[in-house]
Amino acid sequence: MLRSDSKKVVIVGTGMVGMSYAYAMLNQSGCDEMVLIDVNEKKTIGEAMDLNHGLAFAPSTMKIYAGNYSDCGDADIVVICAGVAQKPGESRLDLLNRNAAVFKTIIEPIVAVGFHGIFLVATNPVDIMTYITRKLSGFPAARVIGSGTTLDTARLRFLVGEYFGINPRNIHAYVIGEHGDSEFVPWSKALIATKSVIDVVNQNREYSMNQLIAIQEEVRTSAQVIIEAKKATYYGIGMALTRITKAIFQDENSVLTVSSMLCGEYGEQDVTIGVPTIVNRNGIKDILELNLNDEEVEKFKNSCETLRKFYNELEL
Ligand code: NAD
Repeated sequence: MLRSDSKKVVIVGTGMVGMSYAYAMLNQSGCDEMVLIDVNEKKTIGEAMDLNHGLAFAPSTMKIYAGNYSDCGDADIVVICAGVAQKPGESRLDLLNRNAAVFKTIIEPIVAVGFHGIFLVATNPVDIMTYITRKLSGFPAARVIGSGTTLDTARLRFLVGEYFGINPRNIHAYVIGEHGDSEFVPWSKALIATKSVIDVVNQNREYSMNQLIAIQEEVRTSAQVIIEAKKATYYGIGMALTRITKAIFQDENSVLTVSSMLCGEYGEQDVTIGVPTIVNRNGIKDILELNLNDEEVEKFKNSCETLRKFYNELEL
C-alpha cells in the first residue's frame, strides 16, 4: 500500500504526452509533488518554470521541479511517457524495438534507488511497454499499470453517447484488448444505463448495429487521423493518465480499462492487455472478468496472440 499522506509523481519523458499529463494534473490538483525527468534536461527546467508560473492560477499548490532518478526513491507513482512518437502510417507495434532500448535505461536506475510505488506506462506500444516494465522492474503485477484502452474507451463512450443522444456517463461500454489494431468492443456487454445497447438497437429502427460497428472503427483509427492532422495525440491521453492517477491516490476502486497482467483471467497467462480492472491505492486490485460471447472470446484471444508474438521476440 502506498503511503496515504503523500502524492508524489515523477514523470519520465516530458514531451507532448508527459507535459499534457503534467498540465492536466496541475489543473486538477492531481498530486502535491511533481518531478520532471527527460534526457533533454534543459527542457525539463523550462517546463518546470512554465508550470510553476501557472501555480498562482491553479486550484491548489504543488511542488514542481526538474529532477533525476534519485527523486524516484520516495515517489508514489512513476509515469513513463518517454520514447519516440508514432509516425504517420507507422503501427504501434513498429515502435517496439526503438522504445524497448529506451526503457532499459529508465527502469533500472529507478529500481536501483529503491522505488516501491506504482509504475504507470503510456509509451507505445503500451501493452508491450507495460509488459517490459514489469519484467525489467521485477515488480508484482498489481504495481505495473499501462494506460491500455482507457483513452479508446473514453472515445467510444463519447461517440456512442452522441449516437444515442445520451450523456457518455450513462454509456457503460468498453474497448478491450491491445491498444492498437486488434482492439474491439464487446457489444454484448455494452449498456445504456442498465439496458443492453443491442436491445435498444433491436427495438428502434432509427439505430443499427452497422452504425455501431462504424463507431468502433472510428475509435480504432482515430489516433491515426489525429496524427495525420497534427502529428501526435496528447491531450486525451494526458487526461486519461490523470484519471488513472486520481483513481490510485483517492483509493477509488474504480473500473478502468487499463493494461493489466492476466493471470488466468479469460484463460490467458503472462499477457498485459487492456481489460476492465479495479484500480485503487495499491494499483490493480482485481480484474473484472466479463462474460464474453464466443465471437468476442475469439477476438480477445486474437488480441492476446498479437501481443504474445511480440513478447517472444523481445530481448530483455
Ligand atoms: P515526444 O517525442 O513529444 O516526447 C518523448 C520524450 O521522451 C522526449 O522529450 C524525449 O526527449 C524523451 N525521451 C526519449 N528517450 C528518453 C530517455 N531515455 N529517458 C528520458 N526521456 C527520454 O513524444 P510524445 O508525443 O510525448 O509521445 C510519447 C509516447 O506516448 C509515445 O510512445 C507515443 O506513442 C505514446 N502515446 C501513447 C498514447 C496511449 O494511449 N498510450 C497516446 C498518445 C501517445
